[in-house]
Amino acid sequence: MNDLRTGIGYDIHRMVEGRELRLGGIRIEYPKGLLGYSDGDVLLHAICDALLGAAGLGDIGGHFPDTDPAYKGISSLELLRHVVKLLHESGFEVVNIDANVLAEAPKIGSHISDMKEAIGGAVGISPKRVNVKGRTSEGLGEIGRGEAIAAQAVAMVQQKD
Ligand code: MG
Repeated sequence: MNDLRTGIGYDIHRMVEGRELRLGGIRIEYPKGLLGYSDGDVLLHAICDALLGAAGLGDIGGHFPDTDPAYKGISSLELLRHVVKLLHESGFEVVNIDANVLAEAPKIGSHISDMKEAIGGAVGISPKRVNVKGRTSEGLGEIGRGEAIAAQAVAMVQQKD
């Protein structure tokens, strides 16, 4: 029987002026960007946590502490690649990833295909095994006011024989 395991990830980052918006491993033209010690890519962080969770390998904060200068301004695609390397070293391969991006703006619909390519490329799986869904917060709360973007992700991994 296949040894399948699932993991869940969540993250939220503040939107601020003067930062490039990096989301799902791509750059999106927008007047604001996500604040963070790395590039602030909230979607990739949620995916990293889902993958680490599925493999029982802890969380992103434990592997990439925000007190370590090595991770200041780092592309979250590099963090994701490193997470996948850790999974492979532990004998896991990634089956699929599904994610929600909660953002009032910008609309991400036209960027989803590029995000799937970027995420699939970093994880080493077909973009068909990556799903990204965008939704708003109906104007409610900090996400609804455009002050933050959040992301949720689930991942399935399989222990290799
Ligand atoms: Mg984060």
